[in-house]
Amino acid sequence: MRLLRAFTDRKKSPLPQPVSEMLLVAGEEVNLTYKKHASARRFTLRLSRDGTGFVMTMPRRASMMDARAFATKSQAWMERALSRRVKALEVVDGAVIMFRGVEHRIVATGKVRGHVVLDAEAKLIHVPGAAGHMRRRLLDWLKAEAAHDLDVASTRYAMAMGASFRKLNVRDQKSRWGSCSTDGVLNYSWRLILAPAFVLDYVAAHEVAHLREMNHSIRFWRLVLTHCPDSHNAKVWLKHYGNRLHALR
Ligand SMILES: [Zn+2]
Repeated sequence: MRLLRAFTDRKKSPLPQPVSEMLLVAGEEVNLTYKKHASARRFTLRLSRDGTGFVMTMPRRASMMDARAFATKSQAWMERALSRRVKALEVVDGAVIMFRGVEHRIVATGKVRGHVVLDAEAKLIHVPGAAGHMRRRLLDWLKAEAAHDLDVASTRYAMAMGASFRKLNVRDQKSRWGSCSTDGVLNYSWRLILAPAFVLDYVAAHEVAHLREMNHSIRFWRLVLTHCPDSHNAKVWLKHYGNRLHALR
């Protein structure tokens, strides 16, 4: 009885705030964030989403001394991770971006006015605006395209699964491709427009299926797979190439 109480009390006490430190890796100053996690059993290290630093997950009772020792031991791994990271992509004339899974070249029209124009056949995206505004113009256009494709896919799956959603948002979610709230709001990352259509479709099928099953039960997966047989390939694609979708910042 006393043991049980001790256990539940420990579970309730809040985790400390993450701590950040600067670190020199291969001559580059990077940020390392130490994060305690209730269920972590060991130290794990990963590159941060934006590729500018690292995040270390540590067991809640581990000491900072042990955490720093783990960081020192992981220097070689961190150097490799930095050399392999996805480089930030500048939106300039001639830059190549993924769009619906196909590489497209950006053409600066040099005109101040006008819309972003897609030439799907030539795999070109014409972007107007002064150099300093091209990025904003392109991102706004990509977000609008993403909202369109995600709305089409979500509506199609909702009809097929006998579900309905109230609202659909397209945002720059850092950690998730999509989410679904209990009151029927679907949230997606606009970056899915950069991925092949079967990947965007899968994320839509996944979130729409949550409108019926708010869990990841067998029934949930059966529903997803019935309407989106390509789910497995999409999951593999996101695992391997998902971080590339974050190159455009
Ligand atoms: Zn889910």
